[in-house]
Amino acid sequence: MKATIAGSGLVGSLLAIYLRKHGHEVNVYERRPDMRDTSIPAGRSINLAMSDRGLRGLAGVGLADEIRKICIPMHGRMIHTIKGETNFQAYGKPGQYINSVSRGELNKLLMNEAEKAGANIYFNQRLTRIDLNKATSHYTDTVTHAETFAEADTIFGTDGAFSAARMQLMTNTDRFDYAQKYLEHGYKELSIPPINGEFAMEENALHIWPRGGYMLIALPNIDKTFTCTLFFPFEGEESFAALHNIETARAFFERVFPDALALMPNFDDEWQHNPVSSLVTVKCLPWHYTDKLLLLGDAAHAIVPFYGQGMNCGFEDCTILNQLLESGDSLEKVFENFVAQRKPNGDAVAELALGNFIEMRDKVADPLFVLRKKIEARFNEKHPALWLPLYSMVTFSDIPYDEAHRLGQWQNGIMEKVMALPGIESKWDSLEVEEYMHSLIKEFSL
Ligand code: FAD
Repeated sequence: MKATIAGSGLVGSLLAIYLRKHGHEVNVYERRPDMRDTSIPAGRSINLAMSDRGLRGLAGVGLADEIRKICIPMHGRMIHTIKGETNFQAYGKPGQYINSVSRGELNKLLMNEAEKAGANIYFNQRLTRIDLNKATSHYTDTVTHAETFAEADTIFGTDGAFSAARMQLMTNTDRFDYAQKYLEHGYKELSIPPINGEFAMEENALHIWPRGGYMLIALPNIDKTFTCTLFFPFEGEESFAALHNIETARAFFERVFPDALALMPNFDDEWQHNPVSSLVTVKCLPWHYTDKLLLLGDAAHAIVPFYGQGMNCGFEDCTILNQLLESGDSLEKVFENFVAQRKPNGDAVAELALGNFIEMRDKVADPLFVLRKKIEARFNEKHPALWLPLYSMVTFSDIPYDEAHRLGQWQNGIMEKVMALPGIESKWDSLEVEEYMHSLIKEFSL
């Protein structure tokens, strides 16, 4: 098969390696210049949390160990209160962690591996149009403005949240469903440099400053810096619009994030020059056109970043497509099965991600939420076959997202009753509570 891939971001680059493993001819067209070219100024350091689904996608092409070398383990959340106190909440059992990885370094490594595997990557090529019946895609060179086209047996659209491939399905096919929803919050990136050559804060944690309606987070980088992201409303009393100059921004940080600000010597410059970006959820269907075009990754299911699952879900797309390609079914059947399997999962992870924003910015600071997590962790330790906390299902397992979402709602119903028990704070680890959970599990059996 001769395959075209539109977009050599994280998912497109990994997919290229998988397709080469199947022996297909692979040509990748990427709108941006080659980020490995050192004459192009390096962008800001942006990092992502990689968890088990992402690592599984990489392991399928033998790259998990290589990628682990550029990751920093984060064993839990480090919560920063407004008074500057910190408390640590483990993500799972001892030994379970998520990984902070630089988006740029990961993408470069995947492109190198795709080329080593025999894929061709063409840069500065912006997809403009697809002839869906012929799987011919058309590009404009972003430097020379020259027009080119690529003929293939099939096209994979991995061109991200604002996919041009998806737009072709929208404008050229009948009954294409499409919905996009922007969050009222945007985000701005800031940084915390090392102090005396060392990390300025605990390195093996994802730091969160939860403040109710908004939050600041920080993830470690291997150069001992932290990339911080402020998720904050666009409009309103406390909003990007309200912090319209450096004085108001500084005063706000001094009031709300004083310990973080003290570690940000470049705050003024970064606040003024780093953009405020928006966050979107995209749902659409169908994700394919016969055997000629298939959307994967953000092009099919862009989600907000609060569960750290966008890339992980996209890499899991590659794992599942690889399994289906091994089935021997026709390509059209493979695409149909892929969409049938992945669409409910894409929808579920979108909901989980939106829900986790409220958890991160608000609930993690609530002692009752922390207690609930402790009760769930204890019950899981004693009865692992009966209970796996939602975070662990999403992050440390390959339970399909839609099943995890359904189980999570079932668990919520049970935990609401458990948390309503009089005196739960003092008897949370008692036999009485354990037996009550058993009885509720029986009563609300799935
Ligand atoms: P992209 O990475 O966006 O790649 C798309 C590629 O297509 C790009 O290279 C682009 O240049 C190219 N392209 C676009 N248009 C065209 C065109 N017309 N022609 C040719 N090429 C084109 N996910 C996690 O798993 N963990 C996290 O912690 C996490 N944190 C995040 C934090 C933020 C602030 C954001 C915004 C996202 C986060 N994500 C996270 C989500 C993750 O970034 C995406 O899910 C992931 O990048 C999707 O990969 P992709 O390859 O589908 O799309």
